[in-house]
Amino acid sequence: MRLVAAEIDLQALAFNLARTKEIAPHSKVMAVLKANAYGHGLVKIAQHLQEADAFAVARIDEALALRAGGLTKPIVLLEGFFHHTDLPILLANNFQTIIHDESQLLALEQAQLDAPIATWLKVDTGMHRLGIEPSRFAEFYQRLKACKNAKPQVNLMTHFACADDLQDSKTNEQLQQFQTLVAAQQEALCLANSAGILGWPQAHGDWVRPGLMLYGVSPMVGGRAAQHGLKPVMRLTTKVIAIRKIATGEKVGYGSRWQSPCDTHLAVIAVGYGDGYPRHAKAGTPVMIAGRRYGIVGSVSMDMITVDIGDNAAGIAIGDSVEMWGPDLPVEEIAECAGTIPYELLCNVTPRVSYEYI
Ligand code: PLP
Repeated sequence: MRLVAAEIDLQALAFNLARTKEIAPHSKVMAVLKANAYGHGLVKIAQHLQEADAFAVARIDEALALRAGGLTKPIVLLEGFFHHTDLPILLANNFQTIIHDESQLLALEQAQLDAPIATWLKVDTGMHRLGIEPSRFAEFYQRLKACKNAKPQVNLMTHFACADDLQDSKTNEQLQQFQTLVAAQQEALCLANSAGILGWPQAHGDWVRPGLMLYGVSPMVGGRAAQHGLKPVMRLTTKVIAIRKIATGEKVGYGSRWQSPCDTHLAVIAVGYGDGYPRHAKAGTPVMIAGRRYGIVGSVSMDMITVDIGDNAAGIAIGDSVEMWGPDLPVEEIAECAGTIPYELLCNVTPRVSYEYI
């Protein structure tokens, strides 16, 4: 029996996709499945997103894994291709590519291909990560339109830097710059990630690119899934494997970093950073046992964490189930306690955790 399980609720996943379509009713959905579908299991998640119009991943290997898993939908490579030798792979597997740099455009112009590839021209409107400079948009657009190795329709994309913060004016600035640039073209537009979808309806465009919200997690600063009508897909659970009595003043765990202020009991639970639980979760970070919250104490170790369950041990016994995050304990809250973002916690779940799809 494996002690740590990631229970993946496929009905919640389908629900979140339907919710996305309800929020952006006029947009097609490119479901973002990179990094093993944000730690949820790439092929299994894709198989249960049949209502999406396309999939998006970062890298070619991820896209090939989807094809090997029997998925036939269009797949967009969000990082594009890296080398001209990738182009026949794109063509053979019907992958669509981002064009974000001149080196890619040159490779596409110079390639000898049997058929054209579908492209998305990515414009950098302020994220300053991938994308061509707005001043070069007209040139790139015309060259792609003229390129025999690119399909005649050149889709247009940008990416928001600060859409998770509704008070930040940068999103409107990016939106305006993009709209001004592309106004003359009759092409498909794609701007919004989850935060763009949830917070900026004016940015929905022809396509949306939801990642985190499909997994039932809020991308907004201080946000929670329930606020957006989303259902968490992953529940990470473990078991109580020991219960210890601790006297006032005793120190617990590596570095003896926590000292008990009173007589109490500790539940030792079988999960740690070796499973992907964040090492930097602070004392008091909640876990859920039998419907009640308790705080972790001491250092998170590789395989175990200690939880203060109080002087009378609250009826907790070895073998009891413990929720680390999930429908009853928002992963957004755990991320805040660990000084990180929910994306990182979900992606970091390690292979020794057993996945159970329900
Ligand atoms: N689009 C691009 C280009 C991305 O890099 C990502 C993820 O980082 C997404 C969309 C999906 O973002 P989110 O998970 O916030 O919806």
